[in-house]
Amino acid sequence: MRYTEPKERSAELLRLALAHMGRHEAAFNPVTFTLWYEHAAGINARLSAALEALLAQRTPIDNAVALRLVREHVTPADEAAMQRIGTELQRVMGGIAHSASQAGDRASQFGAQLSGLSAALLSSDAGGLGPQLQDVLTGTAEMKTSAETLQRRVEAGQSEITQLRSELDRARCEAVLDPLTGVLNRKGFDAALQALIARPPEAGRVHSLVMLDIDHFKKVNDSHGHVMGDRVIQGVGAVLRSSIVAERHAAARYGGEEFAILLRDSAPEDAERLADVVRLRTKAMKIRHRTTQDVLFTVTISGGVTAWQPGDDAASLIGRADAALYASKRAGRDRVSCG
Ligand code: GH3
Ligand code: MG
Ligand code: MG
Repeated sequence: MRYTEPKERSAELLRLALAHMGRHEAAFNPVTFTLWYEHAAGINARLSAALEALLAQRTPIDNAVALRLVREHVTPADEAAMQRIGTELQRVMGGIAHSASQAGDRASQFGAQLSGLSAALLSSDAGGLGPQLQDVLTGTAEMKTSAETLQRRVEAGQSEITQLRSELDRARCEAVLDPLTGVLNRKGFDAALQALIARPPEAGRVHSLVMLDIDHFKKVNDSHGHVMGDRVIQGVGAVLRSSIVAERHAAARYGGEEFAILLRDSAPEDAERLADVVRLRTKAMKIRHRTTQDVLFTVTISGGVTAWQPGDDAASLIGRADAALYASKRAGRDRVSCG
């Protein structure tokens, strides 16, 4: 792990990092926190050297500079670590915002008491104390203003962290989805398949895989153009999304006009039934002319099903499902075979 500091030391580093963050322009977010934490911890010599060079030139450390420094000198933390930093930082900032607001409240109460006292003293014989009390009152007002400023800055930082976190979540989802069909893309499929293989099936169950391929798709492109070809791929994606609804099943676009269904703890017979539903719904799909609405053509798909066997890796599992798919193609297409 990148950060091995024990809790007490890390708390000290957290305070140091927050102190740096308060002195510089960049917002309170996980990027600037990473920058100042690594600098304070003295665990990233290249980062500290670059940062100190900028500080020596009096370059303001704003959001852009902080991001550049972190991109250039910090190896990307794993996502779980980023998430942890975000959560932890937000928790700490929540605590600070609360104390800052309490400090502000207390200062204003104290100020009101002093005002009363000052008025009372000024109107009595204690005369000499008046100017000193005035100083105290001015100091209190300043303290209240700075507590309020701190509170505002921390609140702004918190909302920025919340926004960053939701952007991170969205980016993480988008990275594994195919934009044309809305099912998992190849990256998402690979990750889901690895997760499936790493997780032994429940007692008495197996995992299954289906590979699907649109029949004679090249003819669609050749006769109706690639835009129409894309509409067909979108249509098959919609059929998959409406047919694959169980939490333990996932649909993916494997590439081009090929799709896959991953089925955790599901027998190949169930996989075959589901693949057949997709096949029949695809066949029932009527591709219409955009303006006349005339039915132009229909499409069919072929499928191959296999079950995970002990000793399988991703390649052997896909290889068997593919062999079953090509058996369907050879047997005349528009069918699902098991292998
Ligand atoms: P088969 O029944 O044996 O599967 O025949 P096929 O024509 O479907 O298979 P082939 O592999 O010969 O052709 C697949 C075609 O799919 C070739 C490629 O140009 C087209 N294709 C792949 N990805 C896309 C895409 O994203 N959009 C469009 N419009 N076409 C694509
Ligand atoms: Mg193909
Ligand atoms: Mg094809």
